[in-house]
Amino acid sequence: MTHYIPEDLPSSIQHFINGKFVDSVGGETFDVLDPVSNTSYVTAAAGQKADIDLAVAAAKHAFQHGPWPRMMPRQRSRVLHTIADLVESRGQRLAELETFDTGLPITQSLGQANRAAENFRFFADLIVAQSDDTYKVPGRQVNYVNRKPIGVAGLITPWNTPFMLESWKLAPALATGNTVVLKPAEFTPLSASLWAEIFREAGVPDGVFNLVNGLGEEAGDALVKHPDVPLISFTGESRTGQIIFGNAAPFLKGLSMELGGKSPAVVFADADIEAALDATVFGVFSLNGERCTAGSRILVERSIYDDFVARYAERAKNIVVGDPHDPATEVGALVHPEHYDKVMSYVEIGKTEARLVAGGGRPEGLETGNYVSPTVFADVSPDARIFQEEIFGPVVAITPFDTDEEALELANNTRYGLAAYIWTNNLKRAHNFSQSVEAGMVWLNSNNVRDLRTPFGGVKASGLGHEGGYRSIDFYTDQQAVHITLGEAHSPRFGTSK
Ligand code: NAD
Repeated sequence: MTHYIPEDLPSSIQHFINGKFVDSVGGETFDVLDPVSNTSYVTAAAGQKADIDLAVAAAKHAFQHGPWPRMMPRQRSRVLHTIADLVESRGQRLAELETFDTGLPITQSLGQANRAAENFRFFADLIVAQSDDTYKVPGRQVNYVNRKPIGVAGLITPWNTPFMLESWKLAPALATGNTVVLKPAEFTPLSASLWAEIFREAGVPDGVFNLVNGLGEEAGDALVKHPDVPLISFTGESRTGQIIFGNAAPFLKGLSMELGGKSPAVVFADADIEAALDATVFGVFSLNGERCTAGSRILVERSIYDDFVARYAERAKNIVVGDPHDPATEVGALVHPEHYDKVMSYVEIGKTEARLVAGGGRPEGLETGNYVSPTVFADVSPDARIFQEEIFGPVVAITPFDTDEEALELANNTRYGLAAYIWTNNLKRAHNFSQSVEAGMVWLNSNNVRDLRTPFGGVKASGLGHEGGYRSIDFYTDQQAVHITLGEAHSPRFGTSK
């Protein structure tokens, strides 16, 4: 296979602090691999505590003295719309870089670039329409909410759909007038630097957006432990979330955590099976299976089970795995050899735990690069590791059930609770099941199609707090209650009895 390399790749990846691209103070770097050749194509600055200190100081200064938090919402909204325009106009280039860095199929990277623009447009609109509560106590008081940006927001993001997930945090944090320090994932730092140019062109003042690349245990850790960063919005693994939770505790920081998942897709016999098949195949194999909301456990009613498994396996075998830059590709290369090894180890574990009906290793003809055949295991028991643990690759577990009660028990039988997908045409069952399933988000008769106004987040080990729509605005702002006395102040008169 020819290895496609985008033109004009940067010769190095730097931090962006106070409006300038800079190296690490101590000159530290790390190598970045592309997932097709697994060779290092660039070195990136590896941020340390000293670099985080500089970025936080710049962000703090911009927050305390700069114009950004003081602008009219309409002014900030205009800048955010310009950012959305720029992201849209550079969609091709962005997608090309993202695909090169992550191994995601190009058609899907393009979709993610558009979604990133949409996130900015959405919050640009929301802040100008924002209203806050006022409460009247007739003749006595008027009380109102004075909503304020909080300060320097620390944003820590993962490597799956990096640019889109960064937009997801950047847009509401900036829309509400905060300043930010972004620490993107070390596997995929390429597209994050594009934000710096886009923001500068759109008119974001220096110091408002700061970017520090580096490893989680170094740059990420220093950001979490910085006393001048009151907020951390984190997306990543549940285990990392626990560490960050502990490290942020002494500072009592505001935390928003979007963590791992092992989401069920439950297919009842009365469902539109063709539609369920399309959605459940797409739901686990899109984005290379590196998707937090992947429906990676499919629970199927016994009467349609054998037929469903056979048809599902057939579809999985036909999925086009190949060069991420080829528009025909449906599953590309996994992000990094370490992640590839992890996914492959689960494929081997699965072979000892369940019946392999499709995939099970490296696809023929793709001898190098992080390629995994779409892999389907059937008859997976609920105590199997491939039923319980997040694999985050193109691997799915299918399990039969007999009754609604059993389906619910199986659906809820993991530590995670991010998403659930329910397939049935029975109205009562659809609502009762949706309301009982332990998941932050439920889709009925649909794959993951999200309205940006709805809450996004998980329960159990899948997250803490919800972002999405005005909930993101709530996370990135303080709601100060101001109480105004209209009449006499009625205070009990202490100290007047002698
Ligand atoms: P990860 O937890 O390994 O890393 C995420 C980020 O945290 C990276 O930037 C990393 O450098 C940083 N980090 C690591 N250790 C840190 C530490 N001690 N202190 C501060 N920062 C640290 O996750 P990943 O492998 O990059 O991403 C995959 C995971 O993300 C999966 O579990 C997936 O389900 C989850 N995810 C969740 C959502 C969601 O919305 N719920 C969305 C996408 C991905």
